Amino acid sequence: MPTLIYLFRTMFLAVLGAAFLGRALTAQPGAARATSIQPGEACPPGMTEVRPHSCMAPEDAAPSVLDYRPRSTLVAPTHLVKKARYPAIDFHGHPNGMLGSVESLARLGADLDGLNVRMMIVANNVSGDALKRTVATINASPAMKDRVRVLTGINFQNVGPGWSQRAVAQLEADVAAGAVGIGEIGKEFGQTIRKANGSRLALDDAELDPIWQAAARLKLPVFIHTGDPEEFYQPVDYHNERWLELELFPGRRVDPARHPNFEELMKERDNLFRRNPKTTFVAAHMGWHANDLGRLGKMLTETPNVYVDVGAVLYDIGRQPRASHDFFVKFQDRILFGKDAYQPEEYPYYWRVFETNDEYFDYYRGYHAFWKLYGIGLPDEVLKKVYYKNALAITPRLPQTGWPR
Ligand SMILES: [Zn+2]
Repeated sequence: MPTLIYLFRTMFLAVLGAAFLGRALTAQPGAARATSIQPGEACPPGMTEVRPHSCMAPEDAAPSVLDYRPRSTLVAPTHLVKKARYPAIDFHGHPNGMLGSVESLARLGADLDGLNVRMMIVANNVSGDALKRTVATINASPAMKDRVRVLTGINFQNVGPGWSQRAVAQLEADVAAGAVGIGEIGKEFGQTIRKANGSRLALDDAELDPIWQAAARLKLPVFIHTGDPEEFYQPVDYHNERWLELELFPGRRVDPARHPNFEELMKERDNLFRRNPKTTFVAAHMGWHANDLGRLGKMLTETPNVYVDVGAVLYDIGRQPRASHDFFVKFQDRILFGKDAYQPEEYPYYWRVFETNDEYFDYYRGYHAFWKLYGIGLPDEVLKKVYYKNALAITPRLPQTGWPR
């Protein structure tokens, strides 16, 4: 009898043990998909670190970065802002194709009304006869004649003997024709433009000083775009924040063998600002330092003649809402609203970042930023300065009346 009990007990325990063993095995799903790594090592491609030094691959094939579009389950206050709280000046306007006729200007006006953009500064480097034609069309539009202003361009070809006299004469003629500033000086300045003698035209070339001095004398802000985001100069690998953009638009990659690198350009640019302290410069795209507000703050502190616009860098402003809020408050006299690419449906993202404290919402261009944005909740006085007061202050030729105090 005891032998029988013993036998049953043994069988029972064996079955129980097998069940436990089975559970233990199934409790490690993906054991075949796992591997361990040494401290400091990264997981192999296709795997992610699920516990310290332990990597695992998903059971199903992973989607590409294009196809992974998770729904956010965050429930938080949402404040969509269609129109800016105060009338805005878009200092970085490229309303291409809308300046040719009174009718197209009226369409531009209707778009801008829906956004509360009262004035657009056209930054298309329009000079000479083209400038005269554009200004004539604007003046022929009763609705738009006080709502669009034009910057003139500088022809940087063949800088050498006699260049500065010609350039200053053209600048004076363009101002007489109605230009209110200079720009947008494009990124080819400093990268690809050559002097008459064949050498690269550096941003801080002394032969250019007469044109910057003329800008100061004529009270013209100089709107200048220098270089590209720093990631465009880096290897296009899976650590590059702009990998997708550089794969979609390979022409945006900067070949360091053929062009100055990011730091060289920034050094020349800052030297240009420093050696012309009476000239007002507006560095487009926050000088490509919106991802390093400490550096940008240092630049603005060291060169009081420099301003920045916020065009096309909302992804950096909106991913650091506390630092951005404090930066905008500290440098509230130095930041201008500007949109760059003309897409009316994209302006409300700027209003929402500047005016609300909304959290974790989508940006309008996935290839710029795979992350979410947050509102920076700027005070009214700061909003007014960023939206219009600063642009009016540095551009005396803009219509100065009719703005809120
Ligand atoms: Zn631009």
